[in-house]
Amino acid sequence: MKQRTLKQPITVVGVGLHSGQDVTLTLEPRAVDSGIHFLRTDIDNAPLIAADAFLVTDTVMSSNLVVDGVKIGTVEHLLSALAGLGIDNLLIKVSDAEMPIMDGSSAQYVDLLLQAGIEEQDEPKRFMKIVKPVRVTEGDKWAQLEPHAGFSVQFEIDFDHPGIPKDTQRFNFEFSTKGYIEKVGKARTFGFMKDIEYLKSNNLALGGSLDNAIVLDDTQILNEEGLRYKDEFVRHKILDAIGDLYLAKYSLIGKFSAFKSGHALNNKLIRAVYEDPSAFEIVTNYDIDKIDIDYSL
Ligand SMILES: [Zn+2]
Repeated sequence: MKQRTLKQPITVVGVGLHSGQDVTLTLEPRAVDSGIHFLRTDIDNAPLIAADAFLVTDTVMSSNLVVDGVKIGTVEHLLSALAGLGIDNLLIKVSDAEMPIMDGSSAQYVDLLLQAGIEEQDEPKRFMKIVKPVRVTEGDKWAQLEPHAGFSVQFEIDFDHPGIPKDTQRFNFEFSTKGYIEKVGKARTFGFMKDIEYLKSNNLALGGSLDNAIVLDDTQILNEEGLRYKDEFVRHKILDAIGDLYLAKYSLIGKFSAFKSGHALNNKLIRAVYEDPSAFEIVTNYDIDKIDIDYSL
């Protein structure tokens, strides 16, 4: 299994969720072992910002990376698409402090990456293999990673809302690229009308609309087209978790499971793994007998 980048650069313009302004995003191929970096094009001599869990400083609404006071926000949906397609090396140029929200899922990012084309490179792909369970908790919320001969993501949410039936609040996803595109990548972010009104009154979520989020009032879903999956909410949490976990800088071999987790707890989990060197190994496919992770399209 080889490292991957894009065949050619590609550019798209979208709206920033919080600013409501247009953001230009350009994805550029990078050499083997480069990893994934962000670069703000609206700032002179901006630092390269690595997609690294230890650079996350703010997880209030999304995962945000900061280097030398320069921030790039809402990175999790693009990172999720990159993890989904197994892309290791990429430069992400952004003209503002946040990523475009697109349709609130990672589907348009997946389409963009496929349009640019995926290039296999001449070095083996590296994985973070979990060899010991690691668990973090916060009140009744928890998230954990444990050994598994593949990559699986199990998530449970806990909402008491008529628009989110109880039997749609749990999902178990055994990772493959095809599965990611079909079952996870199209799941949109969601929010509650009362929270959105509050955010807008504080000059946040100005770009948020029914075009890029599922919105619920006290009793129902307001989007006329309804849901893309009956359990779209929990599937979006899985999309987010896959993006947050990619801040480990490697694709994972292990099982992630979580109850009511979010960006902050997902980040805490990656840090906890790194803080225990006996919990993981960095391996290539040549080091291990068998891993059941299929990146074919
Ligand atoms: Zn999200």
